[in-house]
Amino acid sequence: MKVFVSADIEGVAGATSRDDCTKGSPEYRQFQAQMDAEVAAACQGALAAGATDIVVKDAHGDGRNLSAAALPAPARLVRGYNGHPFAMVQGLDATFQAALFVGYHAGAGDGGNPLSHTLSSRKLHAVTLNGEPLSELAIHTWAAASVGVPVVLVTGDEAICAEAEKRWPATVAVAVKSGAGASTTSLHPADAVAAIRAGAEAALGVRPPAVPDLPAEWHLEVTYRDVAAAYVRAFYPGAEALDARTLAIDCRDCFELLRALVFLVGL
Ligand SMILES: [Zn+2]
Repeated sequence: MKVFVSADIEGVAGATSRDDCTKGSPEYRQFQAQMDAEVAAACQGALAAGATDIVVKDAHGDGRNLSAAALPAPARLVRGYNGHPFAMVQGLDATFQAALFVGYHAGAGDGGNPLSHTLSSRKLHAVTLNGEPLSELAIHTWAAASVGVPVVLVTGDEAICAEAEKRWPATVAVAVKSGAGASTTSLHPADAVAAIRAGAEAALGVRPPAVPDLPAEWHLEVTYRDVAAAYVRAFYPGAEALDARTLAIDCRDCFELLRALVFLVGL
């Protein structure tokens, strides 16, 4: 069984402020270590369930956070980004049987995590698809579905787990913390690790859920924090400025959405 793991940091136990997730800050080391531990736990659960090949995408910031030595062999680590529109699931393809998302967090504008954002907290104020808030979980669940791979486990804050349970009830969700205002309340780090290991093993120990349906239409709206960022990106083919900070674009399929996000957010 070949398993893909996508790992973020804002949803790991304890992470609460931007400093906790930013390289170079004294707090970062503690939460980088927790990210290592939670991702290793997901890999260990996958191995216990029979995984024979695991690819882990480090999907936070510059994609260079995880320590490969902290992961159990034979897990292989994708470090850094090559710019492929699959972004947080770069490297995922139809050869995988399942995907696990670890350390995921509430989307932009959600009060369930002080670190809630979608793709870029620095650039984006809001992102919607077909009029509903768009999370990194939804973007990458659809990316996985577009190559026929179901997401079987989501771990992170309660808000993103609630979104997973609502949209894709067959996905196992493991919440390790809740957020209110600028605060979080988390499981003990060791309890979070144990819950993720058990969740991964349980999620992969049963027949994988059906691959989710993709949306019938892909109307994306992106609101920037900065008018200059919106102005230049309005020249992206198909983009339309709704106001000085908001662009809209109708994409034909999932890959077009992913590609638009690379150019409307990433550059
Ligand atoms: Zn993120």
